[in-house]
Amino acid sequence: MPYITDNVPQCADRLRAGLLVALPTETVYGLAADARQDAAVQQVFALKGRPSSNPLIVHLQSAAQASQWAADIPAAAQRLMATFWPGPLTLVLPARDDVSRIVTAGQDSVALRVPAHPQAQALLAAFGGGLVAPSANRYMSISPTSAAHVAQQFPDSDLWILDGGACQVGLESSIVSLLPGDSPRLLRRGMLSQSDLEAALGQPLENRDGGVRAPGQHHRHYAPGTTTLAFVQVPNEALASPRHGWIWCGQAQHSAGPAIDLGDQPQAYAARLYAALYQLDALGLERLYIQLPPQHDAWAAVHDRLARASQRLD
Ligand code: AMP
Ligand code: MG
Repeated sequence: MPYITDNVPQCADRLRAGLLVALPTETVYGLAADARQDAAVQQVFALKGRPSSNPLIVHLQSAAQASQWAADIPAAAQRLMATFWPGPLTLVLPARDDVSRIVTAGQDSVALRVPAHPQAQALLAAFGGGLVAPSANRYMSISPTSAAHVAQQFPDSDLWILDGGACQVGLESSIVSLLPGDSPRLLRRGMLSQSDLEAALGQPLENRDGGVRAPGQHHRHYAPGTTTLAFVQVPNEALASPRHGWIWCGQAQHSAGPAIDLGDQPQAYAARLYAALYQLDALGLERLYIQLPPQHDAWAAVHDRLARASQRLD
């Protein structure tokens, strides 16, 4: 059985011993291992069921540690670090030769992030080095935003889970690649808006297509087990069935089945989205209907995750 704890020093000891620990970050809970121990990193892939071709993000306590992992930190990266670290931004930079190619999935680039969550910071400080920490869920299922949801993902393991409450951002980090010979690229949308990233960078970001390989953007990532349908026009006939669940974006209508209204504010919506999916997915419903938010930059990451979790109705 997983063990939920708030003992940071013992979690750090376990990581040093090559064991895995789930840790809270402001984005989602991560499944952490010492990024310098290949056997521990391999256990992360094995426990998640994640293909070894999908690289891991190295989490650091501060930007000062980035030079232990990146071979080059261009001025553009320094600007983004100064503006957004600690926070929900991952940077892909050229990797030093001594960075494990198991971590980078064979690539000569490494992804780095400094999380802001106080418990993540405390654990990184006690541990001292870099931690890989992909989302603490089985491959292709919903990322956990609470310790209980991590435990639910790995019921047969003896994983230690550092409890940090509910994640404040709730969606995975924005990923920007800054590699020589390529334009700056937004590889994954997160809750930092593209315009805020571009303002700090001082130049536009290309989208993810083309340039570096960005694995892990699988079409059916983050999906609940229940058939999930996203809509703009409310499918009125479906409201009558008690076997249909609903996630609303501020315009809840009366339904026979269970419903959660996440409201129409992007930050608050994103923080609660995955917990709502866990909650409704556990009910064994026939269908889950999700009202799509407005088409607006502030909702871009939410739209991205909903597109991976659902089919469009209209
Ligand atoms: P996560 O699944 O949240 O752990 O994020 C990992 C994602 O970061 C991967 O699926 C890639 O999209 C991206 N990533 C990590 N390392 C690299 C890298 N070296 N080069 C390009 N993308 C990377
Ligand atoms: Mg993930």
